[in-house]
Amino acid sequence: MEKTYDVVIIGSGPAGLSAGLYAGRARLNTLILEKEKAGGQIVTTEEIENYPGSIEDPTGPKLIARMVEQVDSFGVERKTDEIKEINLEDKIKVVKGDKGEYKAKSVIVATGAKPRLLGAKGEKELTGKGVSYCATCDAAFFQDFDVYVIGGGDTAVEESLFISKFARKVTIVHRRDELRAAKSIQEKAFKNDKIDFIWNTEVKEIKGDGIVESMILRNRETGEEKEIVANEEDGMFGIFVMVGYIPQTELFKGTIDMDDRGYIIGDENMNTNISGVFVAGDCRKKSLRQVVTATSDGAISAIQAEKYIENNFGE
Ligand code: NAP
Repeated sequence: MEKTYDVVIIGSGPAGLSAGLYAGRARLNTLILEKEKAGGQIVTTEEIENYPGSIEDPTGPKLIARMVEQVDSFGVERKTDEIKEINLEDKIKVVKGDKGEYKAKSVIVATGAKPRLLGAKGEKELTGKGVSYCATCDAAFFQDFDVYVIGGGDTAVEESLFISKFARKVTIVHRRDELRAAKSIQEKAFKNDKIDFIWNTEVKEIKGDGIVESMILRNRETGEEKEIVANEEDGMFGIFVMVGYIPQTELFKGTIDMDDRGYIIGDENMNTNISGVFVAGDCRKKSLRQVVTATSDGAISAIQAEKYIENNFGE
């Protein structure tokens, strides 16, 4: 007979792995489906110094490796498959991937979000080597360096204020001549002596041999190009790309309720609008997207899935 899992977790970043850990400890028959390999966004983060207790070897990949080991020790199954189809409304839920079909009494969606990329030449190659998408994670590494923040929304401007506590100077590069950010946040940035602006400008290319050394900017009105080169003594500078995020929730559109930006709406117990379907981590509508909040969501979702199964399957 085809196996029906207690819980299928879609996504294996910190939220999915934490859900797996709690579900495994609750002796639920659990499967984690990972698209490529375990880890989510943090495997591209060199150092994570803000996850409580993670002091020794605090790199993204090592933290994930420890989480995976912990999950495996509780007998949780993990499979690599990209889910392409879902049927979540029935009591037994079905998710289908390229490699198979998986049945479950409950499903936890932990598919995460991805920072929107600029699409500039050199951007991908230099990610984690001067190009960052997370100020909370990386600002401290740019203590006394020059930093360029790309974007003009709340995130770009608010994070520039935060980065200015570390960096020697922060320059916001925005593609238009006015910011999208809330006026109150703008005012703080305009008043900050360490923050400068470059308007009507986009990033054409980021260059460097293993570390960001220069960046070619293009003025969108005049077409003029300018190369920003690292200060000779520093040899490098930081680029924070803050042009929005894309939740990885396309598959669930029309089935699970989400906000107009595609973040899944969950209550404090991670319940979605569909009973037996829970959400955890960065794909959820929430105010702080960090490893610590993702693992917390994961724990709650698994415990709620356990209660849901007890109540609905009489176990
Ligand atoms: P956002 O509001 O979508 O802003 C993205 C910014 O990046 C915009 O200024 C946009 O330029 C620019 N941009 C987009 N694609 C670009 C590209 N390819 N190249 C260069 N620039 C590009 O994203 P966000 O700032 O991350 O904010 C997301 C949501 O969270 C918003 O609703 C925001 O209000 C909210 N948020 C709120 C707070 C707060 O209330 N404290 C803090 C953070 C975020 P244009 O302006 O020209 O479109």
